[in-house]
Amino acid sequence: MIDFSLTPNDRKVLDELRREALVCRSYARHYDENEHEFPPDELPEAKDFAPLMSLFAGRSAEDTGLGTMSMLVAAAQSWGDYSVRMRRGKGGLGNAALRAAGTPEQQQQWGELTLAMAITEPGCGSDPSRVQMTAVLDEQANEWVLNGEKIFVTTGCRADGVVVWATLDRSAGRAGIKSFLVEKGAPGFVVAHKEKKLGIRADDTAAYVFQDCRIPRGNLLGGNEEIPKQSSGGFRGVMKTFNMTRPGVAAIGLGIAEAALDFTRDALRAAGVAIEYGPGIAAQSAAAQRFLELEALYEAAMLTVLRATWLSDNGKPNNLEASICKAKAGAAVREITQGCIELVGPMAASREHLLEKWFRDVRITDIYEGTGQIQRLIIARDILGYGRNELK
Ligand SMILES: Cc1cc2nc3c(=O)[nH]c(=O)nc-3n(C[C@H](O)[C@H](O)[C@H](O)COP(=O)(O)OP(=O)(O)OC[C@H]3O[C@@H](n4cnc5c(N)ncnc54)[C@H](O)[C@@H]3O)c2cc1C
Repeated sequence: MIDFSLTPNDRKVLDELRREALVCRSYARHYDENEHEFPPDELPEAKDFAPLMSLFAGRSAEDTGLGTMSMLVAAAQSWGDYSVRMRRGKGGLGNAALRAAGTPEQQQQWGELTLAMAITEPGCGSDPSRVQMTAVLDEQANEWVLNGEKIFVTTGCRADGVVVWATLDRSAGRAGIKSFLVEKGAPGFVVAHKEKKLGIRADDTAAYVFQDCRIPRGNLLGGNEEIPKQSSGGFRGVMKTFNMTRPGVAAIGLGIAEAALDFTRDALRAAGVAIEYGPGIAAQSAAAQRFLELEALYEAAMLTVLRATWLSDNGKPNNLEASICKAKAGAAVREITQGCIELVGPMAASREHLLEKWFRDVRITDIYEGTGQIQRLIIARDILGYGRNELK
């Protein structure tokens, strides 16, 4: 039976994280307005808080599974401030790719580093099979030579290295695309600039240039140099990384949306609008009714996230559910934060409060790791049984 009730151990973890989240929140406006600054690794007010891993000590089989719990953790942390929190964490999207596709030796060598993931290029985003960056093997030197540009790389400045996608042979399409591990400091690898953004402005997003960048032959992720004739090669394997990470993106967006709901509930109460759950919808004011609709949207989206991770916690495939929860949450968080702004009124537009920032911050939920449109395409193909060439 699927049961998402929280146990006392679960609550202990989440309550503690919310305490820290409030500290992060107190820094949120500063780093939003000073996009070029990096938050410190340790916030003074939070230095004595228990480290995340220690909060998980003493858990039992009765407690929520770790995958599902990690979604609740992501949401609780983002409820404070997404970007200030992100900056302080170890690891990046590249680490998920390393775990999914790296050889045991690569996992050993690179596992402790924070790795970004660089797929997107100026002319290639939603369709990664159009990657233009090239990797050419120099057999004599036993090195790969990388050439190309990457944009919008999350954790791009702070990361120790990157998993970067490049093609061995443009004419081979998807089958020719491979991922490479590149450490900062590799000759010819330059962090060109930090992107300036609409939301999650404290988050570190960079552009990279690779110019005759030489890396050891062994840095090909997974080690398979072949370009298969009949299949898409390792491409599909690396794309599976996203099944693991998409529910996390959805959970982060929902954590921010929950902050917006909490703020709005307080603002409505201060304005004399009580949110009650007992009376039927007909007995509610229009404002309370709209608020309850937004809350229901939040709950529905969160349930899709929990279901996607519950499936992977229980060793079941969740490709479809990972896309469903990302599509659902991406749309829900936009409607929720916009709805909150409408309910709160002019005060919501003031930079005195964080509501306008949360409205900007959640927009990313529907962009990276596959836009909402791309998730809906994946869902439609899966449900209708179409291949990628039949429905695009
Ligand atoms: C803050 C931020 C951080 C990011 N971090 C990373 C990162 O760490 N690593 C990385 O590699 N990339 C990252 N990205 C890039 C992100 O993944 C891409 O922006 C995204 O995949 C969309 O690609 P695109 O911008 O090139 O849009 P395009 O692919 O050009 O799409 C433009 C629009 O067309 C729609 N569209 C495209 N194809 C279809 C279709 N077949 N059917 C229907 N609609 C379609 C899209 O949904 C979108 O609305 C980041 C982006 C941002 C903004």
